[in-house]
Amino acid sequence: MAVFDHSEFDAHESLHFFNHAATGLRVIIAIHSTRLGPAAGGCRRWTYASSDDAITDALRLSRGMTYKNAVAGLRFGGGKAVILASETSPKSAELLQAYGRVVDSFDGRYITAEDVGMSVEDMRHVGTQTQFVSGLPQDGDSAGGDPSPWTAMGVFLGIKAAVKARLGSDSINGLRVAVQGVGHVGAHLCEYLADAGATLLVADVNAANAVAMQDRYGATIVDPDEILATDVDVLAPCALGNLLNLDTIDAVKATVIAGAANNQLSDATIGQALTERGILYAPDYVINAGGIISVAHEYYGDSTAAKVQADVEKIPLRLEKLFMNSDATGNSTQQLAEELAQSLVAAAGQTIG
Ligand code: NAD
Repeated sequence: MAVFDHSEFDAHESLHFFNHAATGLRVIIAIHSTRLGPAAGGCRRWTYASSDDAITDALRLSRGMTYKNAVAGLRFGGGKAVILASETSPKSAELLQAYGRVVDSFDGRYITAEDVGMSVEDMRHVGTQTQFVSGLPQDGDSAGGDPSPWTAMGVFLGIKAAVKARLGSDSINGLRVAVQGVGHVGAHLCEYLADAGATLLVADVNAANAVAMQDRYGATIVDPDEILATDVDVLAPCALGNLLNLDTIDAVKATVIAGAANNQLSDATIGQALTERGILYAPDYVINAGGIISVAHEYYGDSTAAKVQADVEKIPLRLEKLFMNSDATGNSTQQLAEELAQSLVAAAGQTIG
């Protein structure tokens, strides 16, 4: 695959490929930008149909991290690691340690943490080989640990802001919310939503995860192929990206789309298409910044859980501004978020890379 003329190549600073034959580790690390600080972003482990797909994911995810970190006001640039999962390369301690050495070879230019397919326990193994890892359990009141509960908190607050903006209600009691993907973030989000009185519909390709939500919160289980088209007020994508595209958006019945998944839109034109259909979309890298806010405070060792919460509580304010601006201009929330992120990055100094 050609990299520099790849459709998702967006002046990325660098793209790295590592192969560790002894453990089967194959990992791609994309550094989109170090203008605002070291490139930070989680590590995703996923079974890709091809290595081209993995490259595409790494490029899109790392750019999203630049935007997410910029809008959240963090001293981080954007990067992402993608481990190609396969039956011949099981997630062993040795593989994770090899990944830790890869991260260490960046000497602080890339900071890793959890993403899809990775856990706190996995990061412990990574952390035996490098200090450039976050999302590790911390002592006492220090910020850090599993980022997903913070992501879920930010998404929940963002859903409330979107409901207020579009439905004019301060409450989500009685609203129907469809959650696609109930893994780390989605399950925590379901807890917030159930506590707030929402009626939950959930789908997960891992059936056990959906059943757990049914058992805990009385959620209705929906087929993963049906969840986007369910008759709900809010659709909360919390699985993988590219779910909203020209083939799928006409089926969406929700008036609010607000969830944790990265890269929900197949491309920026979908943002405008949603606006034209009267669907309020909360840009993913704005609403899902809770986890990286925790990761940043942990990495810089400068904070407590209370401070992380205070920062996560700023997420709905950012969304409210985008919603108002979109209503006033007719531009999509996605376009406005991109313009904001790009202006913040442009205003920063030189790269550290
Ligand atoms: P996870 O791996 O714990 O959960 C993802 C869940 O989605 C899994 O249960 C999986 O089975 C399910 N899934 C995958 N494809 C699906 C499909 N087509 N339909 C329905 N379910 C499907 O990952 P996570 O940490 O909960 O992250 C979820 C999303 O949020 C990802 O896009 C991730 O990049 C994003 N995100 C996560 C964090 C975080 O703190 N973990 C932060 C920001 C963004």
